[in-house]
Amino acid sequence: MMISGEPPGDLSERQLILYPGEQSLPFTDEGVDAFRTASQEGDHKDRLIGEGILLTGLKPGTFAHMTEEWLEREGDRLFVRIPGDRVECTVSPGRRGRTTSGGGYPCKDCKRLRDGYWTLNGTLQPRRVPVPEPGVARFIEAYFATHDRVCTPGTVSHRLEKIGERAGFEKTVSGTNLRMTFGKMLAEKGFSSDVIRQVMGFRDNHQGKVMTQRYFILSEEHENPIYHCGEETDSGSPCGREVFFPDQTCYLHGQE
Ligand SMILES: [Zn+2]
Ligand SMILES: [Zn+2]
Repeated sequence: MMISGEPPGDLSERQLILYPGEQSLPFTDEGVDAFRTASQEGDHKDRLIGEGILLTGLKPGTFAHMTEEWLEREGDRLFVRIPGDRVECTVSPGRRGRTTSGGGYPCKDCKRLRDGYWTLNGTLQPRRVPVPEPGVARFIEAYFATHDRVCTPGTVSHRLEKIGERAGFEKTVSGTNLRMTFGKMLAEKGFSSDVIRQVMGFRDNHQGKVMTQRYFILSEEHENPIYHCGEETDSGSPCGREVFFPDQTCYLHGQE
């Protein structure tokens, strides 16, 4: 089984509602390995798209519009800065190929919905995403040193599906599975809930916390998914108020 299955038995009603449906469940560790191997065995664009989306959590439509300008190196860490302003879309080669100057044409969605410009889907925030593995970071940089664009969102999704088939997944793999896997990885690596929320592009409000909580619920490292504040109270027993994340305290006890 390469995609996570049934929710753990001890989830509360609220958490059961948050538990994602089959279409968006994360990969198991075995699934991650199989998917990465299949990405590496494809051409350079398969590797860029497969490992790149798995290790940035970007949506396929966002990843398709990445350019070298989005890359920021800080010491030995690479970040992808997803811009908040609109950018002219040139990811499609067009029916007759690129213009003589090498320019491309807007993809279907940008042409139809946004007058030829790409901009972030309104539910997500501009943000800076760390690429957590140096090998993949170097590969992304090397790609953009010789290419100025990725490809259309449709091609990104199609390549993800094909990589998933080669990796032996029984169901069709989508960007949602990869994004959920990346969020879960961050929770398991011990990043704070606030950092994860920002990296995934969620706002600092109730809805944003709810969306972020899913990664903790899905994580195998966090075995008891109903979290309590746990601060010591006047009576000496730990505070039992429910909180969203294992690293959080309730509104009475500071944080928040
Ligand atoms: Zn576009
Ligand atoms: Zn408390």
